[in-house]
Amino acid sequence: MEFTGRRRSIAGHIALGIGLISILLVLYIGYFLLNWRHGILLVLGILLVLMISCGILLNTIFLVREIRRNEQHDAFINAVTHELKTPVASIRLYLETLQTRPVDEAKRKEFYRIMLEDSDRLLSTIEQVLRTGRVGSTAHRLNPTRIDLDEVIRSSVELVRTLHRVPAEGLRYQPCGPAAVFGDLDEIRAAVTNLIDNAVKYSAAKVNVTVETAKLDGRFVILRVKDQGPGIAKSELDRVFRRFYRVPGPLASRIKGTGLGLYIVRSVAKRHGGRVWAESEGPGHGSTFALQLPIAK
Ligand code: ADP
Repeated sequence: MEFTGRRRSIAGHIALGIGLISILLVLYIGYFLLNWRHGILLVLGILLVLMISCGILLNTIFLVREIRRNEQHDAFINAVTHELKTPVASIRLYLETLQTRPVDEAKRKEFYRIMLEDSDRLLSTIEQVLRTGRVGSTAHRLNPTRIDLDEVIRSSVELVRTLHRVPAEGLRYQPCGPAAVFGDLDEIRAAVTNLIDNAVKYSAAKVNVTVETAKLDGRFVILRVKDQGPGIAKSELDRVFRRFYRVPGPLASRIKGTGLGLYIVRSVAKRHGGRVWAESEGPGHGSTFALQLPIAK
């Protein structure tokens, strides 16, 4: 409901802008036809009309951008609230059950496992929000060391396999050999994990993900994460890296997220002199995310 309301509001502002500019042009053309002999007045008129048209156009663009930004902030607040509340509510429920009812050993172990998973989920949301603040601020300095990228990727692959219970054949790693990069271990690990985690998360039931590395000109190493998931429309390939941005549609409501992961990956890549991009043949054709980083000398 709220979504349709906002869409209407954006459409309303665009229509108002176009309407005002059209009226202005019609008035001006009428004025021109009536007064075409008074040259100087016409030139002044043209300038005035152009200035007013530009003003209306800029104002409309600004309004539409602001509405979109608000929309994304609201979606982010909702997502974070949901991601914080759900695991806490779940942990509370299990604790209450353990406190008030006799529970046999097997059930008790199962409850502990679920509570641990919920607390991991909670921690990862909190960490994601805190990291967004850190990577977005120039005041936060890197803590650079020489990093074995192969080792980082292996541990991220293992982590994602465990978190999402993916069998080994569903998530494969094909390294090109050892590759060292110079950077902040915590940030590089977060960027690599976000890409692999997304590939598995958005593939949903049928996980078929390949992680591979390749060297470019002996100067860069490229990590490619390929999935056979829902794919991404061409128009969205760049937008997905914006802060809070989630591709609108049924996927965003089915698979929860905050819209921060890829923003973090892009910020980390930039901070390390690298870049990240997405490739996809469109919805239904899977996606590939590539992270390029300079090789340590
Ligand atoms: P989140 O996953 O929390 O929504 P991200 O910044 O990681 O935030 O991703 C932004 C958006 O990009 C996601 O909401 C999703 O629409 C899209 N996306 C990211 N990775 C993939 C992928 N592997 N396949 C399809 N869509 C993806």
